[in-house]
Amino acid sequence: MNVLVIGSGAREHAIAWKLSQSEFCDQVFVAPGNAGTAEFHTTAAVDIHDFDELGKFAADFDIMMVVVGPENSLVEGIHDYFEQSEYLKHILVIGPKKAGAMLEGSKDFCKSFLQKYDIPTARYQTFTEATFKEAVEYLKQQSFPTVIKADGLAAGKGVIIAQDYEEGFDTLEAMLRNKRFGNASSKIVIEEYLQGIEVSVFILTDGKDYVLLPEAKDYKRIGEGDTGLNTGGMGAISPVPFANEAFMQKVKERVIEPTLRGMQEEQMDYSGFLFIGLMNVNGDPYVIEYNVRLGDPETEAILPRIKSDLFTMFKALHDHTLKDYKLEIDPRTATTVILASGGYPEGYEKGKEITGLENVPEDVLVFHAGTNMVNGKLLNNGGRVFAITALGDTMEEALEKANKAAEAITWQDRYYRRDIGFDLGKMSV
Ligand code: AMP
Repeated sequence: MNVLVIGSGAREHAIAWKLSQSEFCDQVFVAPGNAGTAEFHTTAAVDIHDFDELGKFAADFDIMMVVVGPENSLVEGIHDYFEQSEYLKHILVIGPKKAGAMLEGSKDFCKSFLQKYDIPTARYQTFTEATFKEAVEYLKQQSFPTVIKADGLAAGKGVIIAQDYEEGFDTLEAMLRNKRFGNASSKIVIEEYLQGIEVSVFILTDGKDYVLLPEAKDYKRIGEGDTGLNTGGMGAISPVPFANEAFMQKVKERVIEPTLRGMQEEQMDYSGFLFIGLMNVNGDPYVIEYNVRLGDPETEAILPRIKSDLFTMFKALHDHTLKDYKLEIDPRTATTVILASGGYPEGYEKGKEITGLENVPEDVLVFHAGTNMVNGKLLNNGGRVFAITALGDTMEEALEKANKAAEAITWQDRYYRRDIGFDLGKMSV
């Protein structure tokens, strides 16, 4: 069976890597992929935003399954497109249709869903340019910090934590009046700031039953000690020590089960991954966001811990047998360290030659993100360039291995955080 993975990051490299281990997968294609996916898999030169082109590729190459990495494709309706086509509807698409993707595609929709199904989340209100005055009044009544979010997709940049009223007001102006994120900020959500520690929980679900995947914690800030600008993510750890049985039981009862109930009542016909961004507030889970796909870099930490065949999980999703699916998980700790181009998440230079990959020990995984191969030379081609994952019996052991491998791979101005997991303390599993 041939499988097509959509996307070009380390997340998609990790998904393709995992799928290619399955005895049921013949060829794993990645579109558009990167230098890493080209090395191990077949990179497809397809414009992923052009569904006609993508559909033609899938038909021509006898693709039976499409795994969608990034949210945009889902929000744009890739699953609906395949389902509505005579030639493509037999293809199993891993990822929800437009209706379900709205859980990520609109913060306002997400918040009203959470409220309707009584799922713990921060207090909020939604405003538009027409209700700018009301937004300012509401802002005045808040304590600070307070959170302002663009309603639509903004490549992870649409959330501002305003430290005081002035910053909040400027953000409202920028988003609602000056359309900082275009249409994505024509609506905004003002939300109570939750004080706690974050954890990402992942399920694979058909909207009724689910398999709980390993949880992870990611490190979003560019600087060590969680300082500086937000990035797509600079590292991840799985498992997360505070996500113990008692906490996860609360997550199941208070968050996952009512979410699935809501999906059914709203007739979303959901099918795919759901990534639940949670804040642990004094031991209680609060939903910060839903993502309708796997996270990057969390995927690079959780997939290496899954011993089960990913393809059989997707088959169980398709056959509605997830309830009986027994997921086998490696109890060790996985640590992922991101190697980035110097300057990221702001300006950075591309096209620098990368060396040292041959010095990475065999038991360390290197997933490519912003890389390309030009005339036999491997070059950096993006902000986040590699995700390095190591497993260890303790977090310290895993981290030491990952950091050592990260040090070995180098190019001009490459940067990585050496303190991933710094806030989790000593951990043995
Ligand atoms: P989101 O895109 O909604 O996940 O927000 C991005 C990041 O902003 C989250 O990962 C949190 O670190 C932070 N954040 C979002 N909402 C809140 C909130 N209500 N309280 C505290 N931090 C938040």
